[in-house]
Amino acid sequence: MKVCKSCLLPQTFPKAQIDAAGLCNYCRRGTTLVDYSHEEPRFKALINEIQHGDQPRYNCLVSYSGGKDSSYVLIQMKKKYGLRPLAFTLDNGFVSEKAKENMRHICDNLGIDLLTVKPDPEKMDAVFKVALQHKIFAKNVISRVSAACYACITFVNYKAIQLAIEKGLRIIASGFTHGQIPKAVFSINPDFLEETFKDMKKQLSEKLNFDVDKFYPKIDFLKLKKAPALYNVNPLLFGKYDEKKIIQTIKKYGWERPKDTDSCSSNCLMNKVGNYYHYKMYGYHPYQYEISSLIRIGSITAEEGKKILADILIDNKGRNIIKKLGLKE
Ligand SMILES: [Zn+2]
Repeated sequence: MKVCKSCLLPQTFPKAQIDAAGLCNYCRRGTTLVDYSHEEPRFKALINEIQHGDQPRYNCLVSYSGGKDSSYVLIQMKKKYGLRPLAFTLDNGFVSEKAKENMRHICDNLGIDLLTVKPDPEKMDAVFKVALQHKIFAKNVISRVSAACYACITFVNYKAIQLAIEKGLRIIASGFTHGQIPKAVFSINPDFLEETFKDMKKQLSEKLNFDVDKFYPKIDFLKLKKAPALYNVNPLLFGKYDEKKIIQTIKKYGWERPKDTDSCSSNCLMNKVGNYYHYKMYGYHPYQYEISSLIRIGSITAEEGKKILADILIDNKGRNIIKKLGLKE
C-alpha cells in the first residue's frame, strides 16, 4: 500500500493523493500546527461572563471518559480556570474498570461530582452491532472516527447538551485534540445539530428494531434556540499537545494507565473492536487522520505513530466483545 513517507497517510484514506516523491496532499500543502491559542481569551471572556451574581454548584459540564485527555481537561477546568465543573460520563458497557477507578480517584481528589449515565445495555449493544457491521454513516463522518465510536460519542454529545440545557450551563468542555476537532471554542448551532441528529437516527433506525428516537437523549431544541449560546470548549487545542505533561499532571490526582485498552484509548474496550472493523471495512485506521496530523505538527514522531497504527489486531478481550455481540471476526 502507498503511504506518505512523511506523515504515514495511506492512499486508502479518503481524498489522499500521494505523489511520485512519496508525499501526500496534506504534507505538500505544508500543514504546520494550526494555532488555536488566540481562542483562549475568548474562553476566558466567556468565563467572566458566566461568573456573576449567585454562585450555582456547577458552572460548566465536562464530558468525561476517564481517559488521559478528558482527565487533564477536568483538572484544568477546576485548577487553571477556577470553574466548578460537573463531570458527566457515559457507561456504554465497555468502559475499562481501571478507567472507572481513575474517574473516581480524580473526582474525589478534586471534589468534583461525577454523574454516570448508563443507556439500556441491550439497545447500546444493538447500536454497536449495527455500526460495526454496516456502512451506514457518511464517508466524511467516519474518516476520523470508527462508526462504533461515532454512534457512542453522539450519545455522549447529545446527553451533555441535554444536561447543560437542563442545568442552565453554558460551557461543555471536552478532551478533543488536534486532528479530532477543527475548533477550540465554538457555540453550538441548534439547527445544524437538529439536522445531523435527524440524519444519524434515520440511518440507525433502518437497521434497528426499536425506536432510536427514544433511545438517544431528547434535546429541547426550542429551549436551546431561545437560551443564551451554549459553547463547546476543547482546551487541549489552546497549546501544543504534550502527552508527557498530561500524564504527569493526571498521575498526581491518582490516574493510572489501564492495561486492557488499545494504544488509541485509555478508557474504552470497544475502541479496539471499532478500529478493527473500520480497518477491515475501509482499509485505513480510524485514528489515521489524527495520527498523521500529530506527526505533521511534530507532536509525535513517525516512529511513534507507526507503533500506534500497528495496534489494529484483535486480542482476547476484543474477541469476547465480538462474541458477545454475535458478530464474526
Ligand atoms: Zn503526508
